[in-house]
Amino acid sequence: MNAQATRAGNARARARGRGRARLATAVACATAIAALLGALAGCSNQEPVVVSREALGTVVQVTAYGEDRAAVEKAVDAAFDVMVEAAAPIDAYDPGSDLAAFNADPYRKQPMPAGAAEVLDAVERLDVGDAFSAGLLAVSRLYGFESTHTVPAASELALGVAAAGTFRREGDSGSFVRITPADARLESGGELAPGLDFGGAAKGLALDRGRESLRASGVVTAALISSGSSTVTLGTKPDGSVWRVAIEDPRDTDRVLASFAFEGDGALSTSGDYQRCFEVGGKRYHHILDPTTGLPARGLRSLTIAGTSLSGLDSDVLSTALFVRGAERASAYAEAKGLSLYVVNSEGQALLVPAPEASGLSASEEAKPTP
Ligand code: AMP
Ligand code: MG
Repeated sequence: MNAQATRAGNARARARGRGRARLATAVACATAIAALLGALAGCSNQEPVVVSREALGTVVQVTAYGEDRAAVEKAVDAAFDVMVEAAAPIDAYDPGSDLAAFNADPYRKQPMPAGAAEVLDAVERLDVGDAFSAGLLAVSRLYGFESTHTVPAASELALGVAAAGTFRREGDSGSFVRITPADARLESGGELAPGLDFGGAAKGLALDRGRESLRASGVVTAALISSGSSTVTLGTKPDGSVWRVAIEDPRDTDRVLASFAFEGDGALSTSGDYQRCFEVGGKRYHHILDPTTGLPARGLRSLTIAGTSLSGLDSDVLSTALFVRGAERASAYAEAKGLSLYVVNSEGQALLVPAPEASGLSASEEAKPTP
């Protein structure tokens, strides 16, 4: 358990060294542990192919079953390529990405990078546009999560929030345009740098593509892909046992608080206040921002959403959006949509909303959160 955790942690440190530290969490480790426990529980002698690689700015692990081991290994390799390709165009933090090129000139109408429309469609379909905003890059940059750890002035936040609201999708091509370009000068003398950021959804999108690639290979009968913060499952393991995904304590990531069990296809994502964060004056400033204020969303330490009907993209969008909405609205959403929800609030209290019985997804609480 600790070995898994340590490996993921080191990989995160390396990823951070290369550039952006947007990282997945020890949920990755927890997932790995869970996958391991699941494998041990079964009595089939078919060993899965398990591959962990640095990808998507974190460590991604694929566990895949199939009769022809060499063919499964090849399919897993191909799935990694597909995932990297899916996330690359919409990585705002890679200076060479299509999205970075778009963001370099946000005053001009431009075609959207591949994958962007899919994310925006999901936000609309899931009806969470009030809480999930792809336009918060300028606000995010004010905090300097990877560099300066700055608490922005209220006036700066107001400008950033206003900039986020000026992006519009236009026409069939889905081009984006900024409709009220303003050469806004911030109080600090810096220039506001408006832009789009799909960091709240890109991993989920990539995991979906990876899962499709495994499915289409024709040689993988069952698989789990985890990026730490998001996990997708495909099919049923040869021994019939469930896929287990463990949820870590946001204040002690070596501890497992809850566990989700998928019988077949499903998806799960966790968003937390303990990644990309810093403290000033005893207050935690973290990366999940309330689009109406530009301030870190308050009320929760972590939120996990899971469902057998969800895609990885859906779950990733939802974990971010529901974290912003808070426990009460998130519970109502989960209940209405037949999803499972697990939250740890700022006081260290946990709440579990189970999925409907016979949905192929169950969840259980294993320990109480750190107070
Ligand atoms: P996640 O870990 O999936 O919740 O994604 C968090 C990331 O999404 C942040 O690091 C930002 O890049 C971006 N983000 C922050 N706040 C929001 C928001 N309200 N809506 C959409 N994306 C956001
Ligand atoms: Mg997300």
